[in-house]
Amino acid sequence: MQTQDYIDLEEQYGAHNYHPLDVVLTRGEGVWVYDVESNRYFDCLSAYSALNQGHVHPKILAAMLEQAGRITLTSRAFRNDQLGLFYKELCELSGYEMALPMNTGAEAVETAIKVARKWAYRVKGLKRYKAEIITFNGNFHGRTVTIVSFSNEELYREDFGPFTPGFTRIPYGDPQALIEAINVNTIAVLIEPIQGEAGVIMPPAGFLKTVRDACTRYGVLMIADEIQTGLGRTGKLFACQHEGVRPDLVILGKALSGGFYPVSAVLGDRNIMGLLRPGEHGSTFGGNPLAAAVARASLRVLVEENMIQNAAEVGQYFIEQLAEIPSPYVKEVRGKGLLIGVELKVGAGGARRFCKALMAQKILAKDTHEHVIRFAPPLITDKATVDWAIERIRPVLNMG
Ligand SMILES: *Cc1c(COP(=O)(O)O)cnc(C)c1O
Repeated sequence: MQTQDYIDLEEQYGAHNYHPLDVVLTRGEGVWVYDVESNRYFDCLSAYSALNQGHVHPKILAAMLEQAGRITLTSRAFRNDQLGLFYKELCELSGYEMALPMNTGAEAVETAIKVARKWAYRVKGLKRYKAEIITFNGNFHGRTVTIVSFSNEELYREDFGPFTPGFTRIPYGDPQALIEAINVNTIAVLIEPIQGEAGVIMPPAGFLKTVRDACTRYGVLMIADEIQTGLGRTGKLFACQHEGVRPDLVILGKALSGGFYPVSAVLGDRNIMGLLRPGEHGSTFGGNPLAAAVARASLRVLVEENMIQNAAEVGQYFIEQLAEIPSPYVKEVRGKGLLIGVELKVGAGGARRFCKALMAQKILAKDTHEHVIRFAPPLITDKATVDWAIERIRPVLNMG
């Protein structure tokens, strides 16, 4: 079978809920992926930051194989010898007291919402079912009905109501709007430290600190969705740490498993996370021994192999090199660490045609929100690979 045959199968039998670039990948190693015609590409998407550790990291693979040969699933009806160690290592690394494991990012977001509501009724003393959570324009937190209820992206919502109440939405990065939005029923502010899906949108400097301070002042929980920005992506373990901010709850997913397996988690201290009682929340696969073993190895290599520091250094270099490319199309290059957005001018004809041209140059990147090309390669990318990429991005940003 060749590229077109695989594409035809997907088109015929699969629901068309994505619009992928027409490259059919069959193998990955580090920052590189290979298609079925043996072309090699530099992966600048990293599965939306699920592959911070690179493709098929050998140590995570070894941990997964070892665990898969022993026991994969116990359900939480029984205990297993990986979960406790995963909790401990994740908590020690992150500086939180407790964790709750789920599978996908969206499930972890739902979990954080439930925990925050429980806290509001049991600790804050709010009247039942009055809880309101403040969210931001341009947010992306996943695809469940509740989560799309507070999205302002028409495409995500249009045909999927009725929606879940209990959310308001304000402009991202606007401190005044935040203060005005907080009222007696506000229980939490749910924020992405950088809005990845919205096009690598960075809030003004100091905004995360403003959110933290407002939350503390009004007795409201700050919930950071670090599913895309966390685990080293921006050059720190969590993007909130760039402003010295410690949220009450942190949501992780994606790179928590180094791309091997869906693993997500909510982190928080005992006064919040300790409120859940048996039976109130759960997941058949959440916290299974295979997930826990894979996540433990994923965290270990992130730290041991210095990937977070590398993201800071190589990311800054990548941003500088991109910014130096003269181009009639580029409006702005922005980002932190290895989460980088190149915003194109409106007249450039949209980011997708640039992503197709990049693919022809053996670089895989994805357009996000029409006019932004996101560059988010694995955190193990070195400067030589950035140099290699820049030579190929240069002509694309100057094509006819
Ligand atoms: C990817 C993502 C999610 C959803 O994660 P899934 O695993 O796709 O459910 C939520 N929030 C952010 C910021 C994300 O990038």
